[in-house]
Amino acid sequence: MSEENSVRDEVRQWLSENWDPDMPLVQWRNMLADSGWGVPGWPKQWYGRNLPVALVNAVQEEILNAGAVGVAQSGVRMLAAATLLEHATDFLKQKFLRRILTGEDNWCQLFSEPGSGSDLAGLTTRADLQGDNWNINGQKVWTTSAHHAQYGLLLTRTDWDVSKHQGLSYFVIEIGQVGVEVRPLRQMNGHASFNEVFMTDAVVPKDMLVGKLNQGWAVAMTTLANERRGADGLRQFSSGDAGEGSIFKELEAENKTAMEPYKWYPQRAGRADWMLERAKATGAIEDPVARQEIARALILHKSSQWMARRAREAQLLGRPQGPEGSLGKLASSNVARAAAHVHTLISGADSMLSKEDGPVNGLIAEILISVPAVSIAGGTDEIQRNIISERVLGLPKEPRTDTDRPFRDVPRNITS
Ligand SMILES: Cc1cc2nc3c(=O)[nH]c(=O)nc-3n(C[C@H](O)[C@H](O)[C@H](O)COP(=O)(O)OP(=O)(O)OC[C@H]3O[C@@H](n4cnc5c(N)ncnc54)[C@H](O)[C@@H]3O)c2cc1C
Repeated sequence: MSEENSVRDEVRQWLSENWDPDMPLVQWRNMLADSGWGVPGWPKQWYGRNLPVALVNAVQEEILNAGAVGVAQSGVRMLAAATLLEHATDFLKQKFLRRILTGEDNWCQLFSEPGSGSDLAGLTTRADLQGDNWNINGQKVWTTSAHHAQYGLLLTRTDWDVSKHQGLSYFVIEIGQVGVEVRPLRQMNGHASFNEVFMTDAVVPKDMLVGKLNQGWAVAMTTLANERRGADGLRQFSSGDAGEGSIFKELEAENKTAMEPYKWYPQRAGRADWMLERAKATGAIEDPVARQEIARALILHKSSQWMARRAREAQLLGRPQGPEGSLGKLASSNVARAAAHVHTLISGADSMLSKEDGPVNGLIAEILISVPAVSIAGGTDEIQRNIISERVLGLPKEPRTDTDRPFRDVPRNITS
């Protein structure tokens, strides 16, 4: 019997003995964590089985086929898990990884600041050591899910006398404390996924440092690489909320809060999957201009899917990650824009009508005003192009005037 078939048999056997849709959700997910089937690609020591990606996919399929619920994987949780697995102390792994899998804790990513988005290494939120704690002061912005997060992945400046990338440190911060104020922001598409987060003498114990002091940039790169690969957002590792049994009621309630900020993400991707169907339903398929644009968008969509598949195959063969992260991120912006353009060709001026007045209950309008987010979140298109030109194609770097001196002496428009 092949290795894959024997793994599939083992999962099926385990599920038939253990899966019970009337079990409390956290209890079931703890069983998944203990068995290693919840995250079979993770190390054995940390709730996994060290399985290669191909076998991980087989396990996921078996869980889906059984209609069983998987571990909690939505939102920033998996960015937190990937970062902690690679850089954190065993103390932090012990404290957080299991609760990430059970869904007991929600996370947010406290990176961007009003003066530092693309220029993330220019951030000015400061952490100053006082006794056994770090004292945090500063402001973050665009923080998805901070309004229901228990913990944040926090990038701060701990040394102002070295160059900008050298003086950053990465911490886990508790959001619910007195010194952290979360203020929701409302977007033009009506959703409120983001927040401003103000930290005033917030406290982070020393043992919440992730990676080494002043080496937070490398840790942040792990988080961002995973974000560009798509480890955040809408991944589901279960049959969702469709089954019979009390566990699905709990899952539905969890989705209502944890998934709420991501409700519009399918629209921000442009809904290329709706183009043909809507063109046929509305008759726009007969319009030669619309047909040409649909073909162009579908070609982009297909080729970006193939590129993603090529990246997955390379991963299966154990090859190191290539340029696909940045290329894929850039491709997703192009696909989203092309698909949004097609939707306006199909629906014309009606595309601007919202809610029940607009086509697909206003979702076409939601596509148009959500698509710009794809080319900003997780690194803008221009930044991806810079990465591709400098790191992949080896073109000369842009001249810089901010890395040759201590950060304290870099001119900036925010005082600290
Ligand atoms: C949907 C969404 C979710 C997000 N979630 C989070 C989150 O959870 N946590 C978090 O910390 N942040 C989050 N962000 C913020 C995001 O990371 C930043 O918006 C992004 O990094 C861009 O930074 P900025 O908005 O400050 O734009 P800026 O950096 O001010 O950029 C403005 C413009 O200048 C261009 N530009 C800047 N520098 C260069 C350069 N060197 N070369 C060429 N062009 C350049 C940019 O491409 C852009 O067009 C989110 C954003 C979105 C849209």
